[in-house]
Amino acid sequence: METTEFIKQLEELKTEGKTTQELYNEISSLAMIFGLRKEQRPVVKNAYYLSMEFLIGRSFFNNLMELGVLDETRNILAQKGIDINIFEEIEDAALGNGGLGRLAACFLDSAAGLGLPLQGYGIRYRYGLFKQAIENGFQVELPDDWQRFGDPWSIRRENEKRTVRFADMTVTAVPYDMPVFGKRINVLRLWQAEGDEEAQKISEYLYPADDTEEGKLLRLRQEYFFSAAAVGELIEKHVKLYGRKFHNFADFNVIQLNDTHPVLAIAEFIRILIADYQVNFSDAVEIARKTFAYTNHTIMPEALECWDAGQVKKILPDIYALLIKLHLKQKEDFDKLNCSEEEASDMAIYSSDRFSMANLAVYIGKTVNGVAKLHTEILKDSLFRTAYRYYPEKFQNKTNGITQRRWLMLCNRELSELIDNTIGKEWRSDISLLCGLNGHIPEITNEFVRVKAVKRKQLFDYIKKHEGIDIPENFIVYSQVKRLHEYKRQLMTAFAILEIYKGLKDGTVKDFQPSVFVFGAKSAPSYKRAKAIIKFINEVADKLNSDEQTNKFLKVVFVQNYNVSYAEKIVAGTDVSLQVSTAGLEASGTGNMKFMMNGAVTCGTMDGANIEIVELAGKENNYIFGAEVDEIEKLKTEGYEPAKLMQKNALHRYAVSALTDGTFSDGGTGCFKDLYDALIVGASWHKPDHYFVLHDLQSYVEALLKINTDYKDQKSFATKQLKNTANSAFFSSDRTIMEYAEEIWNITD
Ligand SMILES: *Cc1c(COP(=O)(O)O)cnc(C)c1O
Repeated sequence: METTEFIKQLEELKTEGKTTQELYNEISSLAMIFGLRKEQRPVVKNAYYLSMEFLIGRSFFNNLMELGVLDETRNILAQKGIDINIFEEIEDAALGNGGLGRLAACFLDSAAGLGLPLQGYGIRYRYGLFKQAIENGFQVELPDDWQRFGDPWSIRRENEKRTVRFADMTVTAVPYDMPVFGKRINVLRLWQAEGDEEAQKISEYLYPADDTEEGKLLRLRQEYFFSAAAVGELIEKHVKLYGRKFHNFADFNVIQLNDTHPVLAIAEFIRILIADYQVNFSDAVEIARKTFAYTNHTIMPEALECWDAGQVKKILPDIYALLIKLHLKQKEDFDKLNCSEEEASDMAIYSSDRFSMANLAVYIGKTVNGVAKLHTEILKDSLFRTAYRYYPEKFQNKTNGITQRRWLMLCNRELSELIDNTIGKEWRSDISLLCGLNGHIPEITNEFVRVKAVKRKQLFDYIKKHEGIDIPENFIVYSQVKRLHEYKRQLMTAFAILEIYKGLKDGTVKDFQPSVFVFGAKSAPSYKRAKAIIKFINEVADKLNSDEQTNKFLKVVFVQNYNVSYAEKIVAGTDVSLQVSTAGLEASGTGNMKFMMNGAVTCGTMDGANIEIVELAGKENNYIFGAEVDEIEKLKTEGYEPAKLMQKNALHRYAVSALTDGTFSDGGTGCFKDLYDALIVGASWHKPDHYFVLHDLQSYVEALLKINTDYKDQKSFATKQLKNTANSAFFSSDRTIMEYAEEIWNITD
């Protein structure tokens, strides 16, 4: 189908009397037919991205844009009296949790955009990440029935279904293909589990509660399920094309493991070669070594999958046996390398009756990569230091990125047009040209200020509609939107806001430019402290928003159900991006990049990709504060007493005491006292304030106030913001994907 034919069919589409849902499905189906007609270049080698999460968001607008028909569709619908924005009613496909899942979606977009053959493999969850409502200040979780409107962007491949076997059940894995449109059409293949009730459970929920034995087994089943379906299929395809020989398997396939969740794919791959094709063990291991590569996303121990050996044995006895065999081979290798006992145990696949997926991935993976410069250095210095000593050649850095198509062109048409008018449109197909803006900043600051005001207004309208809160147009927007976690320190932002509020009340903070703090975050359902922080922020918001003395200057909004579509509004309308994790703990962050590209300054710590952001956009154009990694390490070893810091500083006393002195109510749950104790007393498993909130709080408040003062010089502040946009090309996932393609995958377009 030609573009003109798509347009013609769209023009002929009857719209009268149809529901949004019907129109959505009909237009999407037309676009699918149109999109899939494109001729594909044959591929020699494919890369496969195995990921437990793909946080794709809404496909409708993005796919129409990628197919080059978004503007025409908007116009044709307008002629029929339909505002294209009605399709914002359609649920996001929230088949992921946060950064890791969004990264997977950005990678697929970039690979298709660059014409590189990268295919995704994951799970087609019946329910995505829960929908969040805030009731009484508390998070409430509702099921996310994302297919409620239909799923016109997927194709069920009935005749490519497979069987996945566990000791106690047999499951059918049915593939659903979502095309990824771009210069080439790649495929995200999501497996749906079918069979009896138990079998179906495997693809029912993303991250089912795993605080019980049963929950852990289900999680293990999920990970094996999609990994096994993927490698089983790849091996079969290879045999069909090249016969039952595998020495050349890695010439045609490379498999990237997105974190530790799909690492069982390695064991399954080796198992199949041995059991079904009589490859000997050491040859099978060698082939796996050329095929798999591993990306680490976190150094937090709780997020590195470890499986209880007994559980693996129970439902996957052959995988258990294979893991033990790999463990014994590893021991032999370590003996040859003369590793000490301690070193061997550091790198062991099997120890204390558990299998370490990270150690398996490092042992077999041809490469191991971190996701920002600092993070990769931390992997080499601490988490994988022993492995780095013995296998230094495996380690690489691949700083994350975001797709400028969704995160600039789609979410910020106004800024994109300003860029077009300034440097021409070529940046849209070659993002590296964006740096051309650097030579034109003084000429366009006024226009930029106007664009920011438009995007801010759109955000405020959206917030008004969804949260019922009014924000005046002249308010500066500071945003902290990301998963709720103690290390991300949303609580520190809440304290900083309270200190500014106090300053406004007692007159020590003067000439304050009106500002709103926007929070958005979901907490894991079982993470008590994170939920307490949500409640606390909402209490702070209620108090401040209703204080007539200060609410002309300071407001706080906690948006409900933060997701990709909400993020698209927030990143475009924000002036100040809050990226304040404890140094050393945010592997990269990608939210920080979205904000930078949309012309927000970063107020943040020297952590993750923030370091590279300020390196490229200039420290003078951003606001860095707080302890750096070596200082945090020093505090950990030499002692750190948050209670003393609190006693010494009246503002800190005010803010932290607000948790327990009756200023705010936690609804009688005691959850605020728990937060207080975590900061001041500690807990059985950690010292007080192990994320160093009190240490960084004062410099944080100072940075926020400095930004507020600098903002008054509109031209100079807009210049800082534009410097961020102009230097953000490095954070395009196009750049990241080119690096993976050239340095790990060896694939070409
Ligand atoms: C980008 C994004 C994230 C990741 O944000 P970080 O600030 O990097 O943690 C999480 N959730 C959504 C919906 C996103 O779009």
